[in-house]
Amino acid sequence: MKISLIDIGSNLTHDSFAADRDAVLARARDAGVSRQIVTGADLASSQLAADLAAAHPAVLASTAGVHPHHARSFDASQREGLAALLLRPGVVAVGECGLDYCRNFSPPDAQRTAFIAQLELAAGAGKPVFLHQRDAHQDFAAILEEHRARISRGVAHCFTGGRAQLEDYLALDLYIGVTGWVNDERRGGHLREAVPHIPADRLMLETDAPYLLPRDLVPSPKSRRNEPCYLPHIARTVAALRGESLEALAAATTRNATRFFALPEVRDS
Ligand SMILES: [Zn+2]
Repeated sequence: MKISLIDIGSNLTHDSFAADRDAVLARARDAGVSRQIVTGADLASSQLAADLAAAHPAVLASTAGVHPHHARSFDASQREGLAALLLRPGVVAVGECGLDYCRNFSPPDAQRTAFIAQLELAAGAGKPVFLHQRDAHQDFAAILEEHRARISRGVAHCFTGGRAQLEDYLALDLYIGVTGWVNDERRGGHLREAVPHIPADRLMLETDAPYLLPRDLVPSPKSRRNEPCYLPHIARTVAALRGESLEALAAATTRNATRFFALPEVRDS
């Protein structure tokens, strides 16, 4: 049986894909990645992601949002720009948005303001949210709790936490996005413990390419650049941790992503 996976976090507008994006898309398709959700991280990349999705509507959809790193530049005109993008058919979620206190590239108060504004944008547009959180769990959960009732669906993208954080996110009725962090023996331990406890109807998969190249690929690729074609490798790891077959995991995660992003059903070729 041929698997069909959806990469819910692919930074395909990244410069590192400029020279060979079509080859990257072809490799992903050949590997069984039938669709990708292209992540927008600021207004400019969200516009590029929307254009890319419009050029490949059967394979790509996109998100529109401002990453907490760029929150200091978020203003009314950016909000208008995101709102306009959300009217386009291939733009299926608001994000990535959230809080990142790891290096505070933007001041925390600016991050909270931009996060709340984007939650309100999602509520108004009736779109799900693609959420980023790093070293900011308490504030992140508190803000979400306040706005949760008005948001249709949310996914904690690149979830790296353990059991306790997972329980908090499930209590907020979030979906959980798992990346190749799970393939990292050094720092993925808590995540590996949590993965078997993610309900089957809440789990989705992502590469976060070009970031987070899985550390245990054999043979180790010459380039450090991650690609969506490695998603099946991540899926195999997640399936093994959960004691499931790759086929069952692929079917469940693809169903979840299709529903979450309200994508048209995949026509199997
Ligand atoms: Zn992120």
